Amino acid sequence: MADAFATITQKRMTGGVRIDGIGGKNIHIDPGPGALVRTYQFGLDPIKLDAILVSHSHTDHYSDAEVLIEAMTKGMTRKRGIVIGSRSVIKGYKTWGPCISNYHLKKSNVEIMEPDKTKRIGKIKIKATKTIHGDPTAIGFVLRSGELSISYTSDTEYYEGLQRYHKGADILIASVIRPRNERIRGHMCTEDFMKLVTEVSPKLAIMTHLGMKMIMNNADREAEIIRNETGINTLAAHDGMHLDLQDFVSKQQTLDEF
Ligand SMILES: [Zn+2]
Repeated sequence: MADAFATITQKRMTGGVRIDGIGGKNIHIDPGPGALVRTYQFGLDPIKLDAILVSHSHTDHYSDAEVLIEAMTKGMTRKRGIVIGSRSVIKGYKTWGPCISNYHLKKSNVEIMEPDKTKRIGKIKIKATKTIHGDPTAIGFVLRSGELSISYTSDTEYYEGLQRYHKGADILIASVIRPRNERIRGHMCTEDFMKLVTEVSPKLAIMTHLGMKMIMNNADREAEIIRNETGINTLAAHDGMHLDLQDFVSKQQTLDEF
């Protein structure tokens, strides 16, 4: 886990989340517009990616996937890495997707995931989680190494059972687009996330994908409300936020039961 870290760029920026060094792998989740530029801006190397994960077929989650694949495969000259996506992203589903061309998919391993499906990549296991969102095949992800579990809900509304997918997360990352109790379909507001944070009880909770209302209403204040209410360290992501994952490592977690 030396040099393991996460960089999150989803407040006004939409570059997604980059996690480096988990089980020795470098992973980019939901590369939206600007992901490639932000990768360089924040001093990371897209060529060193081992996996690109795309949760669903909305532009702000997938639009830079192809350019990152080009980087990961060294300009499409090597067969390298893995691309994991929802059915809509990889194959297309009804009017959703596909989001990545066959040309770009042919130089990497490709995995379509649906809720509860797991995929092992070296020393980590990735599990797809259920969402309730506009794209019916949209998924979230849990990344687990022997010592760390990172959950990403992606875009979803709160539903009974969401916590079961993310139980055991050391770091819980979620799209929270509205403040307080301002619910809209397919998304979480602060109040929903507070419930999830209480149920999952992670070491760190992070709100990303903040909507304009959230930014104007001061997302840091929303995070503070959750912190005060739950006693759990909660942050609103800011552009280029950088975390040292070493601080969140747990005792050995088993990959077999996961
Ligand atoms: Zn979406």
